[in-house]
Amino acid sequence: MQGLMMDYPLTTNVILRRAETMYPHREIITRRGDGRLDRSSYGEMARRAKQLALALAALGIGRGDRVATLSWNHAEHQEAYFGIPAAGAVLHTLNLRLPHEEIAYIADHADDRVLIVDECLLDIYDSIRTRVPFEHVVVVRESDAALPEGMIDYEELLAQYDAGDYVDPQLDEREAAAMCYTSGTTGRSKGVVYSHRSTVLHSLALTMADALGVCAADVIVPVVPMFHVNAWGIPYTAAMVGAVQVFPGPRPTPADILELMTSQRATLAAGVPTVWLGMLELLDQAPGKHDLSSVRAIAVGGAASPQRMVESYDRHGVRIVCAWGMTETSPIGTVSILPKELQDADPDVQMQQRLRQGFPVPLVELRARNENGLVPWDGQTMGELEICGPWVASQYYESSDPTAGMAFTDDGWFRTGDIVVIRPDGSMHLQDRAKDVIKSGGEWISSIALEGALMGHDRVAEAAVIAMPDERWGERPLAVVVPRGDTPPTSDELLAMLAEQFPKWWLPEQIVVRKEIPKTSAGKFLKSALREQYTARV
Ligand code: AMP
Repeated sequence: MQGLMMDYPLTTNVILRRAETMYPHREIITRRGDGRLDRSSYGEMARRAKQLALALAALGIGRGDRVATLSWNHAEHQEAYFGIPAAGAVLHTLNLRLPHEEIAYIADHADDRVLIVDECLLDIYDSIRTRVPFEHVVVVRESDAALPEGMIDYEELLAQYDAGDYVDPQLDEREAAAMCYTSGTTGRSKGVVYSHRSTVLHSLALTMADALGVCAADVIVPVVPMFHVNAWGIPYTAAMVGAVQVFPGPRPTPADILELMTSQRATLAAGVPTVWLGMLELLDQAPGKHDLSSVRAIAVGGAASPQRMVESYDRHGVRIVCAWGMTETSPIGTVSILPKELQDADPDVQMQQRLRQGFPVPLVELRARNENGLVPWDGQTMGELEICGPWVASQYYESSDPTAGMAFTDDGWFRTGDIVVIRPDGSMHLQDRAKDVIKSGGEWISSIALEGALMGHDRVAEAAVIAMPDERWGERPLAVVVPRGDTPPTSDELLAMLAEQFPKWWLPEQIVVRKEIPKTSAGKFLKSALREQYTARV
């Protein structure tokens, strides 16, 4: 017997309609390049998204065609998030921090037909234009300077269409809505294609109390770029529940973000640890000066959160919530909530749980595997994390990379490349990326655990631990630290601190002090660059 419920299509247009009818006056605020705040609304966003959809159709863009964006976080990008899928086309956010050569490869590989680009990023377009045959280039302008020949002014384009003429194309929920390429620290970037259905279900997931609990009372500052896994899905979720969004615009500094969060009475913000470490310095310089009392949580993901950072924010009255995810998982996979059993636990026990990657959100399933098969959930046996769920990729987009197919198991789970332990309560604790793991004498050493401990030292700002080839042990850890303040800690001091927490064979062979650690386009430590530098010296 079949169920007798409606076959209601889960498309981004459903979210758009809701935003338009329920929250026409709820605000979308953008900090412009000159620091000015522009105020728009979901009503205006919906009107302009429909105008964009009509304009794209007039430019010959149809079902499944890719439309790229090369943009910072702002109201026009939010319009593209809805307007492009509303035309039946596919939003393809290009990561402006990648090497231009890689951006050209990605846009070409995805067959992007139209590019929507910020005026301040036209130099990137200039350097890739000969390699990517965009049919139309639409420029979101901030100045009155004349546009180069052949380019279309975004505002002039939209002004030609009346939102009232828009007709919903009645898309199938399995059609593609958006795509995003992995940031690929090794090998070529691979395309992940989100469907309308996965996007809507992922948006719902972010509203769950045990996820980020995004709701109608929220004022959200999405610091995570809109070109990185759809700003973790926040633009869709916020529109679904009518949360105010405050976009930081081009090149936001920690001071800009702090100013926006205090002046706009933010309740929630999201970004990678580097952003929050930067903001922490400002808070520490002037304790009590910045009023963040409106903030209920800062969601931190993309890399492990150092304990010192989480504790310092606690002292400033701001709660950090750690979450784990990947481009391939839309991204929400796990969130580090405190379950009932830990509500009255010792603060140290609670802190350890908060620092882990945490529990899979409903509809996401986890398991881990090593050379002996699936690992027990004992919190000790390490294995590669495998994941499945309705917003997890089932394959990459037309990848010629021979390793692309190996990312999926025979029974269709995605192999994440993260080395984890799963605890008896089902929560996940990430130990390493498979390619960053250190194997010494046949046993794994967690670089993340060592980094967390090193960053716990008062005079260490950043720490990355990498594997160095070693004749006797196979590999041994080498730590690279960036000091905080004028007196860098000595190696002996750091080793003595680590010796209190780790077995002797985990202690780094060498600790190198340097001014900075190279970072990926998403602000994570670029360990491959460190490995190249230090192994070359052996
Ligand atoms: P990306 O696809 O660029 O978002 O990168 C995904 C990778 O970032 C994951 O496979 C993890 O290795 C890492 N990552 C994401 N969230 C966390 C977290 N909370 N803690 C540690 N690593 C994380």
